[in-house]
Amino acid sequence: MISQNIIEPDTISLITTYRCTAACKDCCFQCSPHQKERLTLEQMQYFISKATTIYSSIRLVAITGGECFTLGEDLYSLISFIRKKGLLSRIVTNGSWATDLTKSRKIIHRLQSAGLTEINFSTGDSHQQYVPVQNVINGVIAAQECKIVTVVNVETNENFTFTAEKLRKNPQLTPYINTPYLQIIAGEWIQFSDKSTQNADSSKLNCSTRCKQLFKVMTLNPQNDLICCCGLSTRKHPFLSLGTILNRDIKKLWESQYDDFVKLWLYAEGPKKILEFAQKIDPSIKIDTSKMHMCALCLQILSNPHILQIIRENYVKIAPRVMLEYTIQSHTKNKIKQNYEKRNL
Ligand code: SF4
Ligand code: SF4
Repeated sequence: MISQNIIEPDTISLITTYRCTAACKDCCFQCSPHQKERLTLEQMQYFISKATTIYSSIRLVAITGGECFTLGEDLYSLISFIRKKGLLSRIVTNGSWATDLTKSRKIIHRLQSAGLTEINFSTGDSHQQYVPVQNVINGVIAAQECKIVTVVNVETNENFTFTAEKLRKNPQLTPYINTPYLQIIAGEWIQFSDKSTQNADSSKLNCSTRCKQLFKVMTLNPQNDLICCCGLSTRKHPFLSLGTILNRDIKKLWESQYDDFVKLWLYAEGPKKILEFAQKIDPSIKIDTSKMHMCALCLQILSNPHILQIIRENYVKIAPRVMLEYTIQSHTKNKIKQNYEKRNL
């Protein structure tokens, strides 16, 4: 292992299915109603049990997709299971089920009884081609009436017309704005299909930061592959998959990441620093990062054999600095976690 400093994960993210009620053009997992792949309830329960036995640091299970409501009754059973494990649960949904307020209230009550602690809605120009924003509003109202923590992520791109600000101004949501239970945020939306991956709202993008996703979120995809981040590129590059958990030692699989210098580097300094390092060695490498999402840049680096070759041949020059930075970051994170746990004992 390159580093003995393990950062314990605090979240499980279940990409429960690639099936979705929508088929947004730039969906990062290419979900649609035609996709069938999903995890079974037993597979999800097995993974949660194993992962939380290995890492007591895990506090939250995020249930995402695809559209997690396509799981039907299994969704409620899964939430109950998570509650019984003493964990927090979050679902991420496009709101297609919230067709009217009465129905939304009924569903939200059921979710709350099962133990749901947070709901996230996604909406915006792409989503609204399939799911009217009124659905999201119905779902938000019902969740707010039950005081369930709610986050609405409005896909944001400089070409898009629907914005987080517009939603905040919707009169039906006025009673809930500025309360502790509702957050409406502008989420970066990458148009992967346009190849440029550079057309999200440039004012919101910053690919200069380090990757805080790595080592933190244990993600399982519908094929039972363990994924090392829930970044937007995970279905697009094998580097981010650690392999199947079936008949494998999950701890060994997860901690194999600490043998990977590039992952430690992404965590310590982020993809832009890696690119700059490669550009110093070969100034002919030109990538315009001015409007680029961090994960899009990560994907470009990981898909570029020339850059990877440069890293392989030259990483010893940078390794001491990166390892020092990684050690400081991981030590600080573990210290914060320990202090938090002490306070909450
Ligand atoms: S609603 Fe979400 S999961 Fe479904 S297709 Fe759109 S982006 Fe993908
Ligand atoms: S920067 Fe790379 S490793 Fe980090 S979340 Fe994005 S895709 Fe994953």
